[in-house]
Amino acid sequence: MAEDLKTIISHSKEYGFVYPSSEVYEGLSAVYDYGPLGAELKNNIKSYWWKSMVRMHENIVGLDAAIFMHPKIWKASGHVDAFNDPMMDNKDSKKRYRADVLIEDEIAKIEGKIDKEVRKGRKRFGDAFDEEQFKSTHPRVQRYTETIADIKSKLGAAMMADDMTGLRQLVEDLDIADPVSGSRNWTDVRQFNLMFSTQLGNISGENSELYLRPETAQGIFVNFLNVMKTSRQKIPFGIAQIGKAFRNEIVARQFIFRMREFEQMEMQYFIPPGSEMEWYEYWKEQRMKWHLALGTPQEHLRFHKHENLSHYANAAADIEYKFGFGFKELEGIHSRTDFDLKNHQEFSGKKLQYFDPETKENYIPYVLETSIGCDRMFLAMLSESLQEEEVPDASGKKSTRTVMKLHPVLAPVKAAILPLVRNKPELTERARKIFDDLKMHFQCQYDEKDAIGRRYRRQDAIGTPFCLTIDFETIEDDQKITIRDRDSLEQKRVTVEEARDIILKSTNE
Ligand code: ATP
Repeated sequence: MAEDLKTIISHSKEYGFVYPSSEVYEGLSAVYDYGPLGAELKNNIKSYWWKSMVRMHENIVGLDAAIFMHPKIWKASGHVDAFNDPMMDNKDSKKRYRADVLIEDEIAKIEGKIDKEVRKGRKRFGDAFDEEQFKSTHPRVQRYTETIADIKSKLGAAMMADDMTGLRQLVEDLDIADPVSGSRNWTDVRQFNLMFSTQLGNISGENSELYLRPETAQGIFVNFLNVMKTSRQKIPFGIAQIGKAFRNEIVARQFIFRMREFEQMEMQYFIPPGSEMEWYEYWKEQRMKWHLALGTPQEHLRFHKHENLSHYANAAADIEYKFGFGFKELEGIHSRTDFDLKNHQEFSGKKLQYFDPETKENYIPYVLETSIGCDRMFLAMLSESLQEEEVPDASGKKSTRTVMKLHPVLAPVKAAILPLVRNKPELTERARKIFDDLKMHFQCQYDEKDAIGRRYRRQDAIGTPFCLTIDFETIEDDQKITIRDRDSLEQKRVTVEEARDIILKSTNE
């Protein structure tokens, strides 16, 4: 696991996963472009999510709504009035911050101290170490835990009450300094709306003001009736969507964790009122399973239950991932009640209801939402999979390799086709033929440049789960090729068809 963001950023740049946007013009803050391998990885994340939602559920269907929507939608949803973050400036460094994020960073620091104690404890007690018991009895850890609970409750209360003075006070009480300059000379905290706006056509004025959507969910709500009728669904059913969202984030940092233009994968599940707690538990479990199925260990994932709920929710939890900079939200599971549909019904004057054929009653459905950021998932997968490891080289000596142990389903390239040497046409022609055959089944890369060991390393560094080597035996004797497994480094000789089946099976193509 790569703890250090700098390592991830430079690896991403070097191998063509992620570049700063508009780099030749010195970049654009909190906006990034995905390079050739990044585009593949991102597509694989989206496709894996889409299949698990739409293909695997008869009662979940897809949607691709426009980014621009009628401006009233954002009034009805509460975004025009309430989609704000608390902003403060440091008077010395002139840097701008989110007060709540500064406070959350303090919490992460204390969590880091707990982790350190746990590591020490594990080292000391070895196999007999019981983490839960240690945490609940160790006096220093207990003190840290109490401090975290206290900060969280004060932060939550201030956020709920839109209490900007309270947030300012908390920053002062915790003695938080500007992370860049170390100065404590802050302005007041004030609300900042995160929506980007633009003008429709060439008319300016209030009526023509459009917003770039800050979430994809509203496109689903306003299409609820269209989708239900045309796909002949009955409640409960879901609508899934992947698409861009835009937020004028106050703090641009942590690479693709917090961007101004990003992508969301959201699913709104329409249910009868009163059944929301059951579905909330169901979707929490389903979503956690999805993350675990990709190989992320349980100890890097956790639920964070929201004690202070947003205006639209009656239950909410985040799935948090242990990034190098602490446990942070990766996905939200929200019970949104009938808040959105009710408001759209009121603002549009159109009935947004479901007729229950059994009870013969009309009602506004409740909604259970799962919402995950595709880019955050991308960063989580890079963090989880990128590592340095000692392995024996060709001569049996230990050497260090950089490897991305991505789940094969997500790997940008599934198989590298490598002729042993490049100056023997019999080998390269055969390898090309195998490449042309296999590329019909999954993403392959043909590479004949450099010594075979270096080519293996290059594929390890981009997460390719299988390397297929074509050597003299292939053409002279047995027609078999060598398949090398990225993680175990095991090599075996198989036919091309066998190799294809092994790869298809593990990459789920
Ligand atoms: P945060 O508290 O981190 O700002 P949020 O609670 O505002 O996130 P939601 O509105 O619940 O986030 O959005 C759902 C998901 O969209 C998040 O779990 C996250 O994965 C992703 N997301 C939200 N904002 C951003 C962003 N600026 N950049 C990248 N992904 C984002």
